[in-house]
Amino acid sequence: MSLEQMAKDMQNCTRCGLANGRTNLVFGVGNPKATLMIIGEGPGQDEDKQGLPFVGRAGQLLDRILAAIDLTREEVYIANVVKCRPPNNRVPTREEAKACLPYLYRQIELVQAKIIVLLGNTALQNLISPAATITRTRGQWLESKSGIKIIASFHPAAVLRDPQKRRPVWEDFQMVREEYRRLMSNS
Ligand code: SF4
Repeated sequence: MSLEQMAKDMQNCTRCGLANGRTNLVFGVGNPKATLMIIGEGPGQDEDKQGLPFVGRAGQLLDRILAAIDLTREEVYIANVVKCRPPNNRVPTREEAKACLPYLYRQIELVQAKIIVLLGNTALQNLISPAATITRTRGQWLESKSGIKIIASFHPAAVLRDPQKRRPVWEDFQMVREEYRRLMSNS
């Protein structure tokens, strides 16, 4: 199955209550064979309107972060833990995330990225451990059973709220740049 087919098949998903409030399901976007995959929390108002992930202010900051490590959003693949907007941008519940995660796992399988960046606690806690926090986990590489290098960092929305998070995010993405370059020079 391709990502395109998968996106078509899930357009009318009602596996969780978030289906009721969505304008558009936000599947994911980018290079279907990206080396780097970025995973955030879920769609906000702008994303819900446009059906695309990371297009609001936080998305513009993500674009600038990517540009700082010489990448564009077309080169990477971007997706979220939940594909439909939680009401008032609240954090998705564990049940909602659990209902939606099989889609994300399938996207990860299809893209076969070698590096995954988890942005924010929702992505970190649902993919790594419910007890993990960005503050304690960021700045270090984790590795999946299948050998994918994983790093967590603050969500751009959190950086917009607290400029002190800029520096740690910059440091984390420097690590991503080094690993990305290493992988590209070996391929
Ligand atoms: S959030 Fe995921 S599981 Fe819930 S309705 Fe949307 S696509 Fe389906």
